[in-house]
Amino acid sequence: MPITPLHFGLLAPINHFAKGKVSNVSFVIANLWMDQQSIIYTLFGYGAIAHNDHTFLWAFVMAGIIGACKFWSLRWWLGALIGSTSHIALDMLVHADMSPFAPVLAGNPFNLGLMEPLSLVLLVLCAWLTAQYVSDTRAWARKALAAVRLRIAGRHPG
Ligand SMILES: [Zn+2]
Repeated sequence: MPITPLHFGLLAPINHFAKGKVSNVSFVIANLWMDQQSIIYTLFGYGAIAHNDHTFLWAFVMAGIIGACKFWSLRWWLGALIGSTSHIALDMLVHADMSPFAPVLAGNPFNLGLMEPLSLVLLVLCAWLTAQYVSDTRAWARKALAAVRLRIAGRHPG
């Protein structure tokens, strides 16, 4: 993807169908880490936009490293694993300069040049994810406000 945050869009259907089962934080960390070379280049002009580390092997190693940071949490592990492997699965559809199955197989037979349609789908999913976050935040704020009102009412009965 040209823009790393588009990968986060996958969280929308995951959150919808498996609410609370996959860590959004470890998913995002895995995606940011996977694109760290491109992010550093885009923000600071250092290095280059590169996909030489975009392999399933690295995705599994990365998921292991991120997962180990909070090893007791299954949802954390799932977020890291789904985040890193889905990143490779999506990128291999659009980047010719990666070898997703290295070191077993060189080259990328799955490059279909689907950058625009895939980006568009992920953009829609990102909008859905944003709506989920806004809705969840509003529900949390409503609940917190209700708790505060209860406390105030408890202090000043009648
Ligand atoms: Zn990438």
